[in-house]
Amino acid sequence: MDYMGMTQEEVQKDIERMQRELQERLEKMTPEERAAAEAKAQQAMREDDAALQKLIEDATKVAADVSSGAATKPKFCGNCGAPAGTGNFCEFCGRPLS
Ligand SMILES: [Zn+2]
Repeated sequence: MDYMGMTQEEVQKDIERMQRELQERLEKMTPEERAAAEAKAQQAMREDDAALQKLIEDATKVAADVSSGAATKPKFCGNCGAPAGTGNFCEFCGRPLS
């Protein structure tokens, strides 16, 4: 939400108004409707959690690839075709792996 140009007092009033509206809406609901709304909210939160978890995992993986050089280093030597090790030079022909 964008609170630019609003005073602390206006923001507080706005929050109180929204809480009142929510309370009124909840009071009009039957217990079944309320339970359904809560279940829906919890489901949405779980989905958000899963999406966030995936984002963190992807970011961690990319960071690990970058720090280990896996993202830029070839898997095979461009000169002799031997599998590239973890070093910066080919273990077989000594050509720099870049
Ligand atoms: Zn080589």
